[in-house]
Amino acid sequence: MTYGELYRRGRDALEGAGVPEAELDARLLLEWVCGTDRNDLLAHGDRERSAGEQEEYERLIAGRKGRIPLQHLTGVQAFMGLEFAVDGHVLVPRQDTEVLVEEALRNLHDGMRILDMCTGSGCILISLLHYSNDCRGVGADISGEALAVARGNAERLLGASACAWMRDGTEVLDGCGADLACAEDRQGRISFIESDLFHGIEGRFDIIVSNPPYIRSGEIPGLMPEVREHEPVLALDGGEDGLDFYRRILEGCRAHLCGGGMLFLEIGYDQGEAVSGLLEEAGFLEVAVVKDYAGLDRVVCGTLGFG
Ligand code: GLN
Repeated sequence: MTYGELYRRGRDALEGAGVPEAELDARLLLEWVCGTDRNDLLAHGDRERSAGEQEEYERLIAGRKGRIPLQHLTGVQAFMGLEFAVDGHVLVPRQDTEVLVEEALRNLHDGMRILDMCTGSGCILISLLHYSNDCRGVGADISGEALAVARGNAERLLGASACAWMRDGTEVLDGCGADLACAEDRQGRISFIESDLFHGIEGRFDIIVSNPPYIRSGEIPGLMPEVREHEPVLALDGGEDGLDFYRRILEGCRAHLCGGGMLFLEIGYDQGEAVSGLLEEAGFLEVAVVKDYAGLDRVVCGTLGFG
């Protein structure tokens, strides 16, 4: 079968199953299987593809028809120009979250220590370290399985020498148990810790970033099947009013953010006012809401006052 025929069959199958963005996903899956890019459909649509490629493409199309997220089929998602490995244990990095990273980057200086609370795939922390100089960071998550994904991403994207749990390309300690002290001893720039929010965290940080679960529990059954059935509910459910994690993170900031340190939180489009209010109550100054590229409230940030 030709490249063009395969694409049209895939597209029609996805459209027939009511999959959103059927055309795009059919093309992206075909490019993934064949190692091609978007020009191939226009320029080389008449080229025959192998039986193996056809079989693999049909397998992925069947998965996508079953509403498995595209990124779980390919195992990767681009974020901040980097390619992150993902699986069902982590939230697939969202483009909206790049706004949080960009805001934090604007305020990052050499030598700062960053805490990424609910790190998931590690996309926020790894991007911050990739695009800055000489900063160090800890990623915390309650899920050991998520941390295994984050650790793999850090090794691949920052290099083994940046990873506190690696030495000479070999794992020397359980990455999930490596705390910041170990990171400093070992000259690693990044470490991960399995922790229920601040429970296992020691010391203070110059910047705390977080994209915590913030969906109201009652809204979870109404989410798209890709999210509801395939992404970890632990990474989504923010409690009855969606604000549980913001309250708990703000409680921990007193003991773990330096005076004058900054907090950056991703929020849902309708949580700007509520979360800014929580920051102000907690003693944060210069509290601001930043919009995403769709013009929706997406990030709340503030600076912790001294004293
Ligand atoms: N920090 C990760 C992300 O932004 C995971 C967030 C989460 O699990 N809620 O993608």
